[in-house]
Amino acid sequence: MNPESSSYDAAWPQLPELQQLRRLLRLNIPGVRSLRLTQVSDGEHQLPVEAVFIGGRAAGLPTVLLVGGTHGVERIGAQVVLAYLESLLSRLRWDETLQAALRQVRLVFVPVLNPVGVVQQTRCNGNGVDLMRNAPLDAREPVRWPLGGQRLSRFLPWYRGRRGLPMEAEARALCELTERLWQRSSLLLALDVHSGFGFSDRLWFPLAGSREPVSHLAEYYALQRLLRRSHPHHDYVFEPQSLHYLCHGDLWDYLYLRAESQQRLLLPLTLEMGSWRWVKKNPLQLRAFAGMFHPVKPHRVQRVLRRHTTLLEFLWRAALSSGNWLPDRAQRTRLANVARRHWYAAAKNPRSGSPDSGARESAVR
Ligand SMILES: [Zn+2]
Repeated sequence: MNPESSSYDAAWPQLPELQQLRRLLRLNIPGVRSLRLTQVSDGEHQLPVEAVFIGGRAAGLPTVLLVGGTHGVERIGAQVVLAYLESLLSRLRWDETLQAALRQVRLVFVPVLNPVGVVQQTRCNGNGVDLMRNAPLDAREPVRWPLGGQRLSRFLPWYRGRRGLPMEAEARALCELTERLWQRSSLLLALDVHSGFGFSDRLWFPLAGSREPVSHLAEYYALQRLLRRSHPHHDYVFEPQSLHYLCHGDLWDYLYLRAESQQRLLLPLTLEMGSWRWVKKNPLQLRAFAGMFHPVKPHRVQRVLRRHTTLLEFLWRAALSSGNWLPDRAQRTRLANVARRHWYAAAKNPRSGSPDSGARESAVR
């Protein structure tokens, strides 16, 4: 724990999410640790990027990493992660089944990866760089410009940063943390929470830089089947990101491929919350740029914060019990074939449709 004086709150009135995080850490719940991953400047203040650790510490435990606020303007993502952290911390005080379960799994929260973007209400960080285009890898297939990432100007969206420079501090911090976690974990599930265009809540898995299936397609298929069977009334659309668009420099592609090259099991997911639903119900919120990415009415914010609790709980329970659903060698081949037909046959022939695809909506992660 790293409690600070209340001047922290006064310094950043535009950052209620960091204030909430600070308040939660001051609760001093036993077994909860925090770590400052890096600091970034908004030109006036140094803003921290912090991680919070809950649950078991032993090497070899499964781990779930929850990330929010990667794109500053999508602050509802940070709030979803914080709301779940707050609920867990409260329940840890009295819920013995939760206390026992969390001894067998590690939960790591990075609620606000891009604090300068949150303060400035921008997608990019303080240097104008889109963190989700900043990893040092190019898409393997042609991408749409500038959406797929561009190096022309920091004043245009989806800027990748200058070629040859190191990754931005926030991106580096996330990569270093994730790599440390997979070194210590039997399995690492990651969920990065975003909001963008579209009416549905989507769970995307890599690759973002290629339409080719990942090598852990069977594992992703098993996970989506487990979610569908365990929570049959959920309406997440679970699919590869490449069904919508391709891009350069995706951090989760980069991390997934690095983990794979080290024979470590990292399964990243992006939750892309369908923000058009909120806009449709309240078109006036489009008067502000942030209104495209964030529900405005308080009851709608509350509904969004409630809505994803089941998914977040499911993820760490799935990680904890992964021996009961991860496919073995014999099942992998069969499941990968089923998954290819399920997700990729439809992509080659859009008219055929897939069980999960529904209407294609453009979405910007
Ligand atoms: Zn986003």
